[in-house]
Amino acid sequence: MTVAISHRINGKPWAGTASRHGDVFDPATGAVTGRVDLASSDVVDEAVAAAVAVASEWGSSSLARRAAVLFEFRRLMADHAADVAAIVCSEHGKVRDDAMGEVARGLDVVDFACGIPTLLKGGYSENVSTNVDTFSIQQPLGVVAGITPFNFPVMVPLWMFPIAVAAGNAFVLKPSERDPSAANFLAELMEEAGLPPGVLNVVHGDKEAVTRLVEHPDVAAVSFVGSTPVARFVYETATRHGKRAQALGGAKNHMVVLPDADMELAADAIVSAAYGSSGERCMAVSVVVAVGRAGDEVVARVRERAAALTVGSADAEGSDMGPLITREHRDRVESYIEAATEEGAAVVLDGRRHPVHGDPGGFWTGPSLVDGVTPDMSVYRDEIFGPVLSVARVGTYDEAVALVNRNPYGNGAAIFTNDGRAARRFQHEVLAGMVGINVAIPVPVSHYSFGGWKSSLFGDSHIYGADGVRFYTRTKVVTARWSDPGGVHLGFPPNM
Ligand code: NAD
Repeated sequence: MTVAISHRINGKPWAGTASRHGDVFDPATGAVTGRVDLASSDVVDEAVAAAVAVASEWGSSSLARRAAVLFEFRRLMADHAADVAAIVCSEHGKVRDDAMGEVARGLDVVDFACGIPTLLKGGYSENVSTNVDTFSIQQPLGVVAGITPFNFPVMVPLWMFPIAVAAGNAFVLKPSERDPSAANFLAELMEEAGLPPGVLNVVHGDKEAVTRLVEHPDVAAVSFVGSTPVARFVYETATRHGKRAQALGGAKNHMVVLPDADMELAADAIVSAAYGSSGERCMAVSVVVAVGRAGDEVVARVRERAAALTVGSADAEGSDMGPLITREHRDRVESYIEAATEEGAAVVLDGRRHPVHGDPGGFWTGPSLVDGVTPDMSVYRDEIFGPVLSVARVGTYDEAVALVNRNPYGNGAAIFTNDGRAARRFQHEVLAGMVGINVAIPVPVSHYSFGGWKSSLFGDSHIYGADGVRFYTRTKVVTARWSDPGGVHLGFPPNM
């Protein structure tokens, strides 16, 4: 049976009839389980109009009321964590622990947004001139939009709308059409928590909906997370239309392993970070840069651990890795294993031969490990977004950093070492927005901000944390005098 999935506008399911639809799969069986409406420009206009209608009133509501909604949403999310995770598992395919982790990291941002009364505290300076006071306030932008990828259907929307809405904006969310149901559930929970209808709207769709959102004259700002080509398109189009934009793109995250590292810890971390969520994470480690004798030690240990991983469906006991999101994506991922062999790398572990505990119709591939990778090979150059880990071998620390820094992406980068001086050099020299020292996936907690450098982010603002609050508000500085000595003074007023 396929379920009909539609937009949620003004606090209720959309009542219209869509002219285009997308298939939603259970990636563990390959079966079509849902049919999602794909929004035309008119439907996007409807959602934006619903947001415009309430934006001013919501933006003028008290901080206490907004915080109360966020606290209640937090409680509901925690109560429903398993339900939310189950939706993620059914449409994305990631295993249950991983889905619960995604919900927990999303909740971390909700926690942060609950502090909105403190986060929006402005500054106040008494007597900047005689009897003149100056103070600054942060005001909402109005209507803002978020466009999110398939790989974190809960966490990435939660990077955006809790802070945007807490800051007093109305929001239009366009989640991935591949796993759309979680977004509707989150919107329902926000409404149950007391958010007025229209403050958070969900439209499903593809390029047509995204293009209308980023061009819409009533949308003041756009947050985007997804692949680099679409991030570039969203950033350029949104800014050309006079909007603020933050567009987070793809990645090729390197992990440098120095010969003095604890190889057991490094190997555990590599396997978790490369194959967790089947490599469908923007912070997945996809290249290990092994320095000197670390090469042989890492490859042997990673191979052994990866070969022992259980590939199976989210609800099967003991599954470490689920399927990929679609059949086409799985086939594309596997094509890199073939290409790596042709280009002269050594395929140490071939995921196409890995045992699978699941329905033969599922979009499975197992962990692959490719050694002897060089920067000219496609397995190195492209973001594969699957469980294919490359190992590049270099002779020195300097060669390792140079390799990382030449890569066009700069999302995360990690170093494993016991040498504090090398680690400190690395944190200073590496060209990446998020750095891990003996931490393979350095996703910042919510009171810091998340974002990459180079082709991993377009715009000047990272997402959530203090950057998120700044992105979703604009500053107003007020200068006030309540006792004017009078007199006409045509000169530019000095402060006295
Ligand atoms: P994607 O770019 O295909 O899709 C992202 C969003 O853009 C979706 O909502 C989709 O509907 C929309 N979209 C797709 N094609 C479009 C087009 N041509 N024009 C306009 N809109 C379009 O990305 P994905 O496959 O859903 O997600 C995987 C990608 O996201 C990877 O590249 C991954 O690295 C990246 N990602 C980055 C981060 C980060 O924080 N930097 C986080 C998660 C995922």
